[in-house]
Amino acid sequence: MSTQTTSRVDIPMANSNEREMRHRGTSTLSVHAGEMYSKPCDAITDAIVCASTYTFQDSQSIIDFIEQKQPREEYGRYGNPNEKVVEAKLAALEAAEEAIVFSSGMAAFVGLLMAKLSAGDEIVFFDQCYHRSREFCYKHLARFGVVTHQVPTGNIAAMEAAITPRTKLLVSESPTNPHLTCVDLEQFVALGKAHEVETLIDATLATPYNIQPLKFGVDYVLHSATKYLGGHNDLLAGSIAGSHEKLEDVRNLRGIMGGINSPHNLYLLQRGLKTFELRMQRHNENGQRIAEFLANHPRIEKVYYPGLASHPSHAVAKQTMRGFGGLVTFLVRDADWRQTADIVDRVQIPRIAPSLGGVESLIEQPLIMSYYSQTPENRLKFGIPDNMIRMACGIEDTQDLILDLQQALELE
Ligand SMILES: *Cc1c(COP(=O)(O)O)cnc(C)c1O
Repeated sequence: MSTQTTSRVDIPMANSNEREMRHRGTSTLSVHAGEMYSKPCDAITDAIVCASTYTFQDSQSIIDFIEQKQPREEYGRYGNPNEKVVEAKLAALEAAEEAIVFSSGMAAFVGLLMAKLSAGDEIVFFDQCYHRSREFCYKHLARFGVVTHQVPTGNIAAMEAAITPRTKLLVSESPTNPHLTCVDLEQFVALGKAHEVETLIDATLATPYNIQPLKFGVDYVLHSATKYLGGHNDLLAGSIAGSHEKLEDVRNLRGIMGGINSPHNLYLLQRGLKTFELRMQRHNENGQRIAEFLANHPRIEKVYYPGLASHPSHAVAKQTMRGFGGLVTFLVRDADWRQTADIVDRVQIPRIAPSLGGVESLIEQPLIMSYYSQTPENRLKFGIPDNMIRMACGIEDTQDLILDLQQALELE
C-alpha cells in the first residue's frame, strides 16, 4: 500500500492552516501530527522504512518527480518517510511552518550556520552558550572567514555594541546551561529587527512545551532532540524550526552534508515525542520542587533555577515560560571540590552522567564532567566554582528524589 495515496489525519498536520492547528493541544499534536490515517497492514503505528533508495515506476515518473508534480522519496540522504512524520510533529509543537531534523543538536547548529554564513560575515553570541557551539564558531567558522563576537549573556546593550554592518546572526540559548539564565526574547528580537539581523535561539533546555520562541519573532529555533524531545536517554538528534522560506537552503545543504537520521532512530524519536507533554509536566514539577527543597537546605549556598524568585531571570521566565524545566544547578556551602564530589557519589537514584532531559535523573559536578582540563582562571571566567552540582531531574517520583538528595547532603 502506497503511503502517498492515503490521507493524513486532517487535524493536526503541520501544513494545515494555523487556525485549525491552534485548536489542538500539545499532546494531541505530539501523538497524531504528521501521521497517516491509514498505514501499511492497518497497523496503528508507523512502519520503519529502512530503504536507502526509492524506486521509480518508469522514466516519466522520475521526470514528474523532478518537475515536482509528485511528492515522494528519492534517496535516503534527502529524507525518508519516518523523518517526514517527526518533522511534522516538531513543526506542530513549535507552531512553525517547518522543522528539519538532523543527526544531533550539533549537526543542526553546524548545518544552519554553514547554510547562512559566508566569508566576511559576523555573528554575535551570548557567552553562556553551549561550549561546543562556541568552539565551532571561533575555531572552525573562523577558518572560513566568519568573525565571532562574544558578549555577556543577557546584556542587550553589549550585543548591540558588537553589531556591525557585516553582522548576519545573533545567537543565544535560553535558558542557558548550567546557570539557567533566561534571555528576554522581546528585547533580543527587537534588537535583531532594528539592525536587520536574523536571530537564533537554542531552546533545548526550555522545549516547545515551556516556550515557543517563534511567537516572539525569533527566526530560527534549535533543539538538541537528544534531550527532552527524545526524552529517554537513548538517541541523538537535533532540529531547526522556522519559516519554509528561511529553511529551504538549510534543508538543501543538509542533503549535501548528510547529517541525517536513520529511520530506526527517527522511530525512537517519534515514540518519545508521544509522551512529550506528560514528561515535561513531571520534569517541570520535579525541577521546581527540588529547587525549592535545595534552597531551604542549610548545606546549600545557592540554587540556580528560574522558577525561584531569587534567580535573576525569574521575572522574565515567569512572564514568558509555562514551566522552568528539569535542570537545577546548586552550590554546596563551604565545600571544596572533594566534598562536593562525595555528595554526587552518595546520591543513589540519579546516575552520574552528562546530558539531561531523559526519564532517568542525571547528576554531575561541572568542574569534573566538563571543565576538568580548564585552568582555574578559566573556570572562574565561565562561572564554574568547585562546589557546583548540576542535577537534571528525570521523571522519577519527586519525594524519592528529595529523600535521596537529603541523605546525600547529610554530614557524616
Ligand atoms: C546537548 C546540547 C547541544 C548539543 O546537542 P547534541 O544532540 O548533543 O549534539 C546543544 N545545545 C544545548 C543547549 C544542549 O544541551
